[in-house]
Amino acid sequence: MKNKFYIAANWKMNKTLKECSEYMDYFTNLLLEIPESKVIFCPPFSALFTMKSLLEETPYALGAQNLFWEESGAYTGEISAEMLLSCSVTHVIVGHSERRHLFGETDRMVNKRVLKALSSGLIPILCIGETIEQRKNNETLAVLENQLKIGLESVSGEEINKMIFAYEPVWAIGTGERATPDQIAEAHVSVRNSIAGIKMGNADNIPILYGGSVNSKNVSELLKIKDVNGYLIGGASLNADEFISIIQQIENYIKESK
Ligand code: PEP
Repeated sequence: MKNKFYIAANWKMNKTLKECSEYMDYFTNLLLEIPESKVIFCPPFSALFTMKSLLEETPYALGAQNLFWEESGAYTGEISAEMLLSCSVTHVIVGHSERRHLFGETDRMVNKRVLKALSSGLIPILCIGETIEQRKNNETLAVLENQLKIGLESVSGEEINKMIFAYEPVWAIGTGERATPDQIAEAHVSVRNSIAGIKMGNADNIPILYGGSVNSKNVSELLKIKDVNGYLIGGASLNADEFISIIQQIENYIKESK
């Protein structure tokens, strides 16, 4: 079966339970037919259990925004894989740039989270991306390769096949400043080649998403970029009308290009 086009909504630290219910009621009334895409909602931890019920009998998947690598214990503020699984979570964002840059997560920590997610049966969405300084210094591709190399240490080729990757230039996240199609295309080809090198095999079917200020106005231009298998969307996924518009444009584009 051909891979679906992935659209992951990262709600970050937004939405109360009431807001999640209102959003999903509205959303599911308007949009349930999405044959070409796989939509994954990643609400804050506090809403996972409520979202589990709201997503029942819908084609949408539930993702978390992070997980800790230990089973249980004295880790105040952390959440375990088992806790996520008990809320029917299937996907988990790992190594988001806000975790790396605001909370000091290193590639080694990201690697432990990836390994824990995989050994628990969760699908990690591994985020990588360069800062503006690294881009200006022409270090982008080397930075991405290094993040992948450490982030995927001890991960088998078979496990890599189950993962989703997201190229998210740090300077384009939440800033309204999107990477150009050429920058995105170059990064995606390089990321795919690095993954293929690490797993010592073909990476053609591994989903690599783009993230960074995707919205309903720029998605039509982004859709023309080859080698992009979906988007990780923050700000623009918070408003149901805006998010629906993005998904519908994606669905139409894929149907028309068949
Ligand atoms: C993100 O949270 O991963 C993201 C890409 O955010 P935004 O779409 O707001 O730039």
